[in-house]
Amino acid sequence: VIEIQHLSKSFGTHEVLKDIDFSVNKGEVVCVIGSSGSGKSTLLRCINLLERPSGGQIVYQGENILDNNHNINNYRTKLGMVFQSFNLFNNLNVLTNCIVGQTKVLKRSKSDAENVAMKYLKVVGLDRYINAKPHQLSGGQKQRVAIARALSMEPDVLLFDEPTSALDPEMVGEVLKVMKELAGTGLTMLIVTHEMEFAREVSDRVVFMDKGVIVEEGSPEQIFNHPQNERTKAFLKRTF
Ligand code: ATP
Ligand code: MG
Repeated sequence: VIEIQHLSKSFGTHEVLKDIDFSVNKGEVVCVIGSSGSGKSTLLRCINLLERPSGGQIVYQGENILDNNHNINNYRTKLGMVFQSFNLFNNLNVLTNCIVGQTKVLKRSKSDAENVAMKYLKVVGLDRYINAKPHQLSGGQKQRVAIARALSMEPDVLLFDEPTSALDPEMVGEVLKVMKELAGTGLTMLIVTHEMEFAREVSDRVVFMDKGVIVEEGSPEQIFNHPQNERTKAFLKRTF
């Protein structure tokens, strides 16, 4: 779906991403792992254009969306994003949170948008909470609303940046469970996570990043059980 070539990103003189080649294929679940500061979030933020890459290409539907004259609005609507900190609209109820993007950006009618929102709120198990405001929900419930909201836009790829790391431990499971179910439905997902057991279970492919480069990638079996690179081995030793 997305192919990244020679992507780089610097903040001032600090080169945070270096010559990243990477792609996400349709229906694939890819988990990105690596230590703090290795550039995982920056990679996601470059992919969804929250950050402007310093160099390289992002090819989507055969075109480099970083070309100056490329219209990025279509591309933007095809990527869903779930953040660590939920980023819900706190003044809007659950249902409206899942509707506004659809009516404003996709120009869907209110009733169509409502049907779509209800469908995905059922998927995350929150269809009984449509009138609740975010502050009335637990962290796990908020994150599930954020997932339903992203799904309601029916994106080609859903990006997650550490979706469970702001949650109390007892709420991590419910969010991972929803994500596991989604992974089983053929949705294309790119997930930055520190949840190694989860990554092992759901990934078609695991990408290990260190100091702004992709050090190694492969099946969960390859990366977790037979890592080749010394940096991967050292990271996994520290993590498990
Ligand atoms: P974590 O696991 O802690 O979330 P990460 O792998 O997501 O880490 P990034 O957030 O991508 O790492 O950060 C990579 C590096 O880029 C860090 O050294 C960070 O300080 C730097 N960085 C990120 N965003 C900015 C910014 N807006 N301005 C300057 N430096 C930044
Ligand atoms: Mg991060």
